[in-house]
Amino acid sequence: MKFLKYTVPVFFASFLALFCGCHEEETLTNLQKEVAILEMRADSLYQEIDQLKKTPSDVVLISDTVCEGEGPYAVMERMKISKKEMATILTTLQDSVDMGVRKVGERFYAVVDSAANAARAEHSVRVFRWQENAIRVHLAVWMDSGFVYKRVEKPFVRKQSVYEGVLEKGGTLDGMLFKSGIPPRMRGVVSGVLQCKIAFQSAQPGDKFRVLLEDTFNKDSVWVSGKVIYAEFDGRVVGHHEAFLYDDGDPKSSFNAHYTENGEALIFNGLRYPLDKIQIGSRFGKRLHPILGEYRLHAGVDYRASMGSPVYAVADGVVTVSGYDDASGNKIAIKHSDGFVSYYMHLSQRGVNVGTRVAARQLIGKVGSTGRSTGPHLHFGFKNPQGQWIDPLTKTMIATPKLAGDRLTKLQGQVKDIRKQIELTLQSPAVKANDTTDVMVHVRALN
Ligand SMILES: [Zn+2]
Repeated sequence: MKFLKYTVPVFFASFLALFCGCHEEETLTNLQKEVAILEMRADSLYQEIDQLKKTPSDVVLISDTVCEGEGPYAVMERMKISKKEMATILTTLQDSVDMGVRKVGERFYAVVDSAANAARAEHSVRVFRWQENAIRVHLAVWMDSGFVYKRVEKPFVRKQSVYEGVLEKGGTLDGMLFKSGIPPRMRGVVSGVLQCKIAFQSAQPGDKFRVLLEDTFNKDSVWVSGKVIYAEFDGRVVGHHEAFLYDDGDPKSSFNAHYTENGEALIFNGLRYPLDKIQIGSRFGKRLHPILGEYRLHAGVDYRASMGSPVYAVADGVVTVSGYDDASGNKIAIKHSDGFVSYYMHLSQRGVNVGTRVAARQLIGKVGSTGRSTGPHLHFGFKNPQGQWIDPLTKTMIATPKLAGDRLTKLQGQVKDIRKQIELTLQSPAVKANDTTDVMVHVRALN
């Protein structure tokens, strides 16, 4: 039982719990192999930081964290990195990774020449370090002639799991996935993609589902990331439906999503809210205009919000308007992939320019009361591709076109591969996901 001394064991313990009886020996051998691999790759953040600190004594280690709505510039500014150096570092990193929109809580580190820092010299950073997640670190290291990009991959373990179950009387798919212990975000994806095809109120007891998940853990068994590769629902009334995760090859591609085998997109997470708090003041429709005093179409929704509240893009898209007029005040418009355009008006500040590509939930401006407005609020509007205003509250998703041509061929190749992965994972012994459910799970370690 030598391996036990290494296990920091949430993952391994649950791994062990998944197997039992006659498979135990085989499992132990596999675990020992895994631990050996991990040991070989052993390398930790602390060692790395120590290494950074060991460099000459005239350096200091500074760090800061990404806050809501911030890009890398804001964080680096707080770290007092000079504008010029910031630009060089980001250029160095951007050739290899997407630094654009960062996640809240991500941490930046910099080893800074203390003397130069005190004097605010143009070049004071020796190493800039950005940890993307628990296993991936990006470094910009100062060499004589400039910054050089270096990427550090920490040891990790990936596993695939197939969950299979039958809908209980009075049970829901989400409820059963919940009881099976699947992380909330992945549960949301499963029911979301299937909902594009299935009216779940027509699901019957006895209907079957099957899901293939892939999870990544770092060597301390911390869950790093997961994806839903496949979801299937076979219902007596709702019929048989499958969703496959398509990888377009570029992590930034907007085609990365779930599709049917025929290339029909299953985009479910549709629109987000433009504000953190949603309080509707005035809805879409004819109303007596508060300032003009005549009946007019109120071509959007007014959300009550305090001055300066952050305003977010409701979906991915490209900024087509960022300007000012007497009626709308400061306004921003974003064109989305299905040809619909979202509008954000009366802003006190605009944070994006025409032509900028924005991600869903990216900060684009601040609530204000500019233009024809009686007080701080966000007027949020939506135009269809024909240029007519529609009620934003009726728009629930952004449709993406069907995959065609080379992409469809690529998807169909991936579908074959996914079916093979399911088959392989199903060869692992089936065990109950846990005591509270009859859902069965098969688990296969990938590395
Ligand atoms: Zn309005």
